[in-house]
Amino acid sequence: MQPYSPGKPIDEVKRELGLTDVVKLASNENPLGPSPKAVEAVKRAAEEMHLYPDAGAYQLKERLSQHLDLPPEQIMVGNGSDELIHMLGSIFLSGPEDNIVVGDPSFVRYDAAAQLSDSQLIKVPVTSNLKLDLSAMAKAATEHTKLVWIANPNNPTGTLVSKLEVDELLTKLPAQTVVVLDEAYFEFASDQAKYPNSLDYVRAGKPVIGLRTFSKAYGLAGIRIGYGFASIEIVDAINRAREPFNANLLAQAAAIAALDDQEFLNRTVQLNAEGRAQLNEAFRAVGSKPVESFANFVLADLGIPAKPVFEALLREGVIVRSGHVLGLPNYLRVSIGTKIENERFGIALSRVMAAQGKS
Ligand SMILES: *Cc1c(COP(=O)(O)O)cnc(C)c1O
Repeated sequence: MQPYSPGKPIDEVKRELGLTDVVKLASNENPLGPSPKAVEAVKRAAEEMHLYPDAGAYQLKERLSQHLDLPPEQIMVGNGSDELIHMLGSIFLSGPEDNIVVGDPSFVRYDAAAQLSDSQLIKVPVTSNLKLDLSAMAKAATEHTKLVWIANPNNPTGTLVSKLEVDELLTKLPAQTVVVLDEAYFEFASDQAKYPNSLDYVRAGKPVIGLRTFSKAYGLAGIRIGYGFASIEIVDAINRAREPFNANLLAQAAAIAALDDQEFLNRTVQLNAEGRAQLNEAFRAVGSKPVESFANFVLADLGIPAKPVFEALLREGVIVRSGHVLGLPNYLRVSIGTKIENERFGIALSRVMAAQGKS
């Protein structure tokens, strides 16, 4: 297994390069910070942190049940959706005869879900315009395929697959195969008319699992809380397999409060749309080609190797992700920041690209 390579921490970059002012646009975090209502709720809950959390996350599931209009028995919560990804691997996969189908590149924790269960990983390249290739993924599936993983929008490409494509995938898969629609960036993309909402499939009893998180649009990445929904049988299996206190006391309180802070969510989505236009413009200004993004980051083709550009940007105090670790050596992935952070990135990028003789 490859160890997970996280975005570089701000403090490490400051220390190593002797910089004082560093911005991080590398981990798709919320540039507005957390919801103020969630912060208040965590402060109140801190007084009770000597107690074990509610193992059934009763209040959070009730609140999610209202939010999703789905019975609480069909809802699961985890220590981030990363934990749910691992647990789905452990309940569905039982050894080398089983496999999962994933896009390439897509979210790297799906690979771990197969590897931890000693099962096979079938990687299907994205199309030439970097979209998950659902018809190729359907063809790759075998009678031993337990899960097909669709990040929608996909990370690291930011691309979307349509309702039509998902409908068709579902008609083509073997009977025992379940589709995971990982909607970590749901709140940024769900206004698209063609968006295939995982909830609709789960409600209709299709073999689909929906995953969402509080880490991105809700600004709670550091406290670790994510959720998912599926058939009662799948959620029951997760409940048997999971650690009883997997969603901690502070995280449960934060998530409940964040769901009530619609104003914060609206501001986040609005800021993201403006910032996306800003980053697209910054890339085009240096002759790079941004991929149309439906998430809170932008991937762009620089036309030259990204690694030296990534390193030069670090020396300018701007942390982004280089595509060379994502299987896209000429691409850079940049999380959408505040207006000022995006401007700073644009200025740094034009300086760096000029030095590379590319603008
Ligand atoms: C960020 C991300 C997650 C993980 O979110 P957590 O809830 O913080 O674990 C899951 N899937 C995708 C595609 C992501 O980009």
